[in-house]
Formats: sequence, C-alpha cells, structure tokens
Amino acid sequence: MPEFVDLHSHSTASDGTFAPADVVRLAHQAGLVGLALTDHDTIAGLAEAAAAAESLGLAFLPGIEISAVPPIDNGTLHILGYGIDPANAVLTEMARQLIDARDNRNPQIIAALQKLGVDITMDEALAQAQGGVLGRPHIAALLLKKGVVKSIKQAFDDYLGQGGKAYYDKERLAPRDAIRRIRAAGGVPVVAHPVQLRATNDAQLERVLKDLVDLGLEGIAVLHSDHAPADVEKFERLAARYNLARTGGSDFHGTNKKDISLGLANGRRVPRDWMDELLRRTTAAAARSC
Ligand code: AMP
Ligand code: ZN
Ligand code: FE
Ligand code: FE
Repeated sequence: MPEFVDLHSHSTASDGTFAPADVVRLAHQAGLVGLALTDHDTIAGLAEAAAAAESLGLAFLPGIEISAVPPIDNGTLHILGYGIDPANAVLTEMARQLIDARDNRNPQIIAALQKLGVDITMDEALAQAQGGVLGRPHIAALLLKKGVVKSIKQAFDDYLGQGGKAYYDKERLAPRDAIRRIRAAGGVPVVAHPVQLRATNDAQLERVLKDLVDLGLEGIAVLHSDHAPADVEKFERLAARYNLARTGGSDFHGTNKKDISLGLANGRRVPRDWMDELLRRTTAAAARSC
C-alpha cells in the first residue's frame, strides 16, 4: 500500500484555523503517515504537534516557513526549514526579528483600512489571530466577517495583496540569511511553492534556483496546491538536475483557505519517500551544525 504525507501545513500558531494537535489529528484521519507543521515565522506550535503525532504514531517533522526578499519583482519567496532544532538560539532570534517586522507592518495595514473608511481596529485583528502570529489571512477573515468583502480572495485582491489599497510589505530577510540561519539551526532549507516566484520564463526560474542552491538551498517543493501538472514536471526536472530533495504539501490553513485539504496538493498526494529523504538530509544537517 502506498503511503502519503503532507509537508506543508499551518496551525493557529500562525494563520491556520486548527490548533497544532488538531492539524495532526486531521492528518491522521486523512490517512496520512507523516506531517510537517510549517507555520510562518514561529516554532510555537511544534511541541504540541510533536506530542500529538507521537501519541497517534504519525511521523512528524518540525518546520517553519520564512518570507525572504523576492529575487523577482512582484514575486514571493518563501523558504521552508525542515528538521530545525526549536531550541536553537539562531532560530529563536530569527523568529523574534520576523515577528518584530510583522509588528511594524500590521498597524500600517489597519491604519490604511481605517483611512479607507473600514471599521476595524488592531485589537480586533489580534483577537482574530487568537495569540498566533498575526498575518494578512487573519485580517482578510475579519474583513469577510464584517461584510467588507465577499471572500478571502476579494480581501487580498482589493486590499491586502500586492497592488491592493491597504498593501504594506514587511521587512524581509535576504535569501542568504534565511538559508544560512535555517542551516545553522540544523534544518534543511527548501524553496516553497516556486510558482509564486513568478519567473517569466524557464531560464529565469533556473537562474534564480541556481543562485539559491549556491547559497545552500537543499530542496524544492515539487507538489503544492498552486502547482499545475506542468509545474510539477518542471520542478521534478530541476530537483534532479540540482540534486535537491523533493518536497510537497497542501499548504493547509484550515478554514482560512477553504478549498485546500490536508494531504492534497492540487489533487496529488505526497509520497512518504519524500519525507524519508528529508529526514535523511535533516540528520546530516544536524550533524553538520554540531
Ligand atoms: P503575511 O505572512 O501576513 O504577509 O501573509 C501571508 C499569507 O497570506 C500566506 O499564507 C499567503 O498564502 C496568504 N496570501 C497571500 N496572498 C494571498 C491571496 N491572494 N489570497 C489568499 N491568501 C493569500
Ligand atoms: Zn499562511
Ligand atoms: Fe508560503
Ligand atoms: Fe504556507
């Protein structure tokens, strides 16, 4: 029987809507044998998820997702770190910096919305995040709840996304620093959803990827909810060409992204072997960081 995993998921520790232990339970219910929790900029959910996974006999890989400076204009670069040591000081310091960057940005978004006549406060946004890392999906959910928009998509298109009326960027790490710090914390750095880099052609994509590999990138998300079949084939080829670990996952956010189910990446499932390969590289990374 083939076995499947999900290597990209979010909990209430960032902008998902299920608690870390509940994400693990849902993964188990979905028949998965392994899960990585990859919350934005935080390791706060990892201990709870690891304990839940242990009690259910599910393989668990601690992760984090970091936003870095995009190499291509209007694109997005998210770097996943797998197998990071949550107690590592480089990692905890990086997370603190990234949260500070959000704390600078989020009030700007709220102020811009207020200026546009939207009845919204920072306290309401923080309440929406329920103690998790406050991200734009929380603000989008709040706008939906208030009837300002009809969908999360509309919230991003009209207000929160690039080009939106209340768009503010946060300070990001250079790709070099994100990759180095993940490695320093014993983790394996992987480029998330490469389609979001928004390369305009294959040569540009390969150039960007090669630069990241030169900086220490060790893997590429081949499967993701945003990846069309042609993207998957392209990233498979690049993984082979640059000796990168293949990863994949749904990018589950609970009801903040209603059309995404745990274990499914645009209809495809992620083989367990891919998690095993990451675990092998994680062991090597941990040995390297000692
Ligand atoms: P933040 O980290 O606060 O900048 O927000 C990033 C989160 O917003 C990620 O989970 C993205 O997937 C999500 N996001 C970005 N753009 C969109 C969009 N157009 N529609 C829905 N979610 C989005
Ligand atoms: Zn998110
Ligand atoms: Fe992402
Ligand atoms: Fe994500």
